[in-house]
Amino acid sequence: KEGVYLEIQTTLYDQNDHLIFIRDVTRLQLLEQMRKDFVANASHELKTPLTVIKGYLETLGMFKDNLPQSMQRGIDNMSDQSDRMENLIEDLLLLSRLESNDKRENDTWLHISDLFSAIEKMAQPILLPEHTLVFSEAKGAQVYGSYNELYSAFSNLVVNAIKYSPNGGEIRVKWESDDVSGLFSVQDEGLGIDPRYIPRLTERFFRVDKGRSSKTGGTGLGLAIVKHVLLHHSAKLQIRSQPRFGSTFSCHFPMERIKNDVLQGNDNLS
Ligand code: ADP
Repeated sequence: KEGVYLEIQTTLYDQNDHLIFIRDVTRLQLLEQMRKDFVANASHELKTPLTVIKGYLETLGMFKDNLPQSMQRGIDNMSDQSDRMENLIEDLLLLSRLESNDKRENDTWLHISDLFSAIEKMAQPILLPEHTLVFSEAKGAQVYGSYNELYSAFSNLVVNAIKYSPNGGEIRVKWESDDVSGLFSVQDEGLGIDPRYIPRLTERFFRVDKGRSSKTGGTGLGLAIVKHVLLHHSAKLQIRSQPRFGSTFSCHFPMERIKNDVLQGNDNLS
């Protein structure tokens, strides 16, 4: 990670000549690395004290019934907040891992239907009775990637669709593919998003409605995680939304990352 980092840009000057810009970005690169290391180390260091706090809270919880009501509420509150903090630390660590390419597991061919089953299992406990969760047919469809990373990205999109549909509605999880690309999408009939916020959604800690997001237990890192996972898979995120009518988050995978056992063979990557 030492050495000189140069950013090179070329533009066409006139018909035959090119202008080449070379910028020394070593200092920027070092600062960026320091930021990444700091976040990774700080998150890691926060884990141990939090585990101790959670352990004692669990013990306190066992004697809760003998305590006055105000203290019972206090214990519940502390448990909720320490769960939130744990989620935040886990998400920060995941984001750090995604940013440092060196710790990635190998990509393999994954069945979309396996990912769908795991997501359905994860989502069932957080669905409201007013929600309907529908999965499309994905028989034989495969994507080339990391199971854990794609599971995190896809489940973040499904959890968001549930969280931001407080009045219920249908949530459609779809896989579609043709000869040129594969498309994973999550469509909801929830709150929707004002178009001016869409370009900022994948920034770390960006939330449209901070009050609502902290109530729903979000960390503000979900879509940043999605963005990084898709980057690893040469895939692109597309967000379409209409306030009060719902949103669709689509992940477009390139042809070489997808295949279908049933319809076609594409063994370029195996
Ligand atoms: P959070 O943990 O706050 O959900 P995310 O990074 O997952 O963080 O999402 C960022 C913000 O994008 C959310 O706070 C929310 O305002 C908005 N958002 C994400 N998904 C949806 C959705 N399906 N419908 C409406 N708003 C959404």
